[in-house]
Amino acid sequence: MLFITALTLVWFRQDLRLRDNPALTYASERGLVIPLYISDTDCPEHFVPGSASKWWLHQSLSSLNDSLNGQLHCLKGDASKLLIEFIQLHDIKSVVWNRSYEPWQIKRDTQLKHALIEAGINVQSFNSHLLWEPWQVLKKDETPYKVFTPYYRRGCLSKASPRMPVEVPKNLQIEYFPESDKGLDSLELMPDINWHGTIEKMWTPGEQGAANHLSDFLPDGAKEYKNKRDFPDLGATSKLSAHLHFGEISPNQVWYAAIDSLNGNTEDVGLDCYLSELGWREFSHSLLFHFPHIPQKNFSPKFEHFPWRTDDNSLKAWQLGQTGIPIVDAGMRELWQTGTMHNRLRMVVGSFLVKNLLIDWRKGERWFWDCLLDADLAANSASWQWIAGTGADAAPYFRIF
Ligand SMILES: Cc1cc2nc3c(=O)[nH]c(=O)nc-3n(C[C@H](O)[C@H](O)[C@H](O)COP(=O)(O)OP(=O)(O)OC[C@H]3O[C@@H](n4cnc5c(N)ncnc54)[C@H](O)[C@@H]3O)c2cc1C
Repeated sequence: MLFITALTLVWFRQDLRLRDNPALTYASERGLVIPLYISDTDCPEHFVPGSASKWWLHQSLSSLNDSLNGQLHCLKGDASKLLIEFIQLHDIKSVVWNRSYEPWQIKRDTQLKHALIEAGINVQSFNSHLLWEPWQVLKKDETPYKVFTPYYRRGCLSKASPRMPVEVPKNLQIEYFPESDKGLDSLELMPDINWHGTIEKMWTPGEQGAANHLSDFLPDGAKEYKNKRDFPDLGATSKLSAHLHFGEISPNQVWYAAIDSLNGNTEDVGLDCYLSELGWREFSHSLLFHFPHIPQKNFSPKFEHFPWRTDDNSLKAWQLGQTGIPIVDAGMRELWQTGTMHNRLRMVVGSFLVKNLLIDWRKGERWFWDCLLDADLAANSASWQWIAGTGADAAPYFRIF
């Protein structure tokens, strides 16, 4: 008997994992899976990942490639063009991916989806990055929420519970075309200068590293979260933000693992507080989706003519952790050495830059974009605008940390 097995191309993007990956699950249930990652050089300059993110991405892809027995196809160039060429060359009739939410990605994916459908290709996209889709959580009048608490409590929590995570596909069978794989190094993500020595010792990008951080944090982390999260020296937060950004773990896995760690007691104040931080992640994505200009323009137009100071020396001192204010400098040096910074310090250093030095929040946002391992367009822009007092639901202009 002749078996014809369906071939499905899985376009990996910000979902660099095998567990709880809806696109991969769908593809593996159809038959053979062709895993592909494309470093998209058509990305507008402002959104090109920063140096720290590139380092993490390289490691994460390497880890994913290992999990796929070295059969992840890697390409660099115009993603839409390369993807179409790839499917034509290998006569692929089905393409799947998990959705990304940066405005340029939404535009690219929408156009590509139409082109593929017109060419008779089966295209499916899935949600693997957010607990609730941004277009599903709206106010009664169908407009987006601009204030966190009603967004989360009235909007998100009144919706159906987030999707339950699924396991690694049982019979994952991969089709590999060596001639169509340029190799991970061809993406040129690793820095030329070796500045990442300390970072390398501290972080393990990839699905296993994410799972390790989650299990280190739980079982007590969620319960203790509310009491301890305000103290940077305790290191009591989950350290999952970069893993979540690159999709090495899904928010659904984190959400349900945290709930399980308290035997389902969602009334627990620590757990409620921790889950609401995942809610802030959702809120940032919702703001970026509905207000795609927030990475570059003040959310509140009244700040458009604010007279920011131009002071390169102070900006440099802030970047290098040499302002003379110990807690600010500690945070900025932590960022430089480790590629991360505790949330409370991000607030302090952000407030210092914008409200003490009166330097435009976008200068801080760009520095964070380049240095943070967890640099995330939604969280970074929304958080900077919040700190600056220019954003939705922002800290008022007179509140200085
Ligand atoms: C100026 C500024 C810039 C920031 N830039 C980023 C960024 O580029 N990328 C990023 O992921 N976070 C950013 N944050 C949010 C937050 O500081 C980090 O997510 C958090 O410190 C990561 O540590 P953790 O994983 O231990 O978080 P935990 O405290 O354990 O929280 C769990 C998860 O919830 C999410 N989360 C927590 N707080 C926030 C928040 N305020 N906004 C959105 N999501 C949140 C993260 O995914 C985090 O991993 C920024 C905050 C500020 C004030």
